[in-house]
This record gives sequence, structure tokens and C-alpha cells, in this order.
Amino acid sequence: MEELPVYLKAQEVAEMLGKPENHIRRLAIINKIPGIRIEKIWRFDREKILRFIDIKHTAAIHEAGHAVMSVICEMDLIFVTVVPRKDTLGRCINKIPYTENETIKSKLMENSALVLLAGVTAEYILLNIDPMTNKRKEDLDKAREIFNSSNDGSGKERSDNATKIVWDTFMNPLVQKQTKAIAEALMKYNTLKGIQVREIIKACGTE
Ligand SMILES: [Zn+2]
Repeated sequence: MEELPVYLKAQEVAEMLGKPENHIRRLAIINKIPGIRIEKIWRFDREKILRFIDIKHTAAIHEAGHAVMSVICEMDLIFVTVVPRKDTLGRCINKIPYTENETIKSKLMENSALVLLAGVTAEYILLNIDPMTNKRKEDLDKAREIFNSSNDGSGKERSDNATKIVWDTFMNPLVQKQTKAIAEALMKYNTLKGIQVREIIKACGTE
């Protein structure tokens, strides 16, 4: 027998997402969350809402991974967000200063690669999601591009090295705690400025 979908009221979805009820309706109108309108009343398929929350949570852990690594690498983190765009579920933006200095330039590239690897690594370690099965493979491709850009044959070694650094970083319980705390804030506020990320990390204490 086919199971009938369970429908939720806007108020129930609002409670699940920790947002005001009118905000939920507004999001449904612009198709940011799955809902149907019958006359003036919104109804939400419970399964779709649960899936929506799950996708958003995975994106939050992924972006939080990028954000934590940015701070560890002392990069200039501008913001991190789980507001989806056409082709992405979120973004983490660092300002990369322009420099002619080759040593600084290569350090910045190396750090960018660590940040790129951090999203899928956080997903894998905290949620057990295999990087090759999700759509975040682009991060790995971009990181590979950075490693191969030096053209001196050291790409493989640098890539292995970076993968190990990021892995070890996210195996640290404190880093896991920081990543979860940032993901939680992203679930609630959608976007965090660099300074807010640093505050959350600070509030997690030191082991
Ligand atoms: Zn990513």
C-alpha cells in the first residue's frame, strides 16, 4: 500500500527550522523551500522538508569545513554561506591579496588548496559522506589544478601531503567541535562574516 504524504503547516516547519512563520512562507514563495499553496494556506510535504534540512545540514558542514581551515591557515575570510545559488549549495570566500613575491604567492596557493580540500574532508569525517559520490568534486579538481600548476612534477607529492594535513586537522576533536558549531550557526543564520566565524571558534575554547 502506498503511503500518503504527511503535510505540515507553516508553523510546524517554522519550529523545525527555528525561523519565524512568515519567513517560511516567504521562502516557499520564492521556491527556497518546497511547499504547495492551496488557496491561501501553505502546506509542506514532511519528507521533502526533512530532505531539505538534511541537504542544508550537509552543505553547512561542508562550508564550515572550508571556513575552519581558512582560519587555521590565517587567511582573510570574508564570509561563508549556505544560501544556495544556481550551481552551488554554499560558498566560503577568502580575500587573496595580490603579491609579486613568489614565496608568499606559493604559500597562498598552498593554503587555498588546503581550504578546498577541507569541505569534503569535513563531510567525510563528520558525516561519513564519500567525496567521490557527492557533487563537491569540483573542489578536488580545483585543488589538483593548484598542485599541478608548478609543473615541476611535485604535484602528486604536494597533493598527498596536503590531503594528510587536512585529514589530521579534522581528526582533531577540537576542530570537529568548531566545525559543528559553525555549521549549527549556518543552519540558523545562513551567512556568517569572517569575524563571526572567528568568534565561534574562540567560544569553542582550547581542548
Ligand atoms: Zn566546497
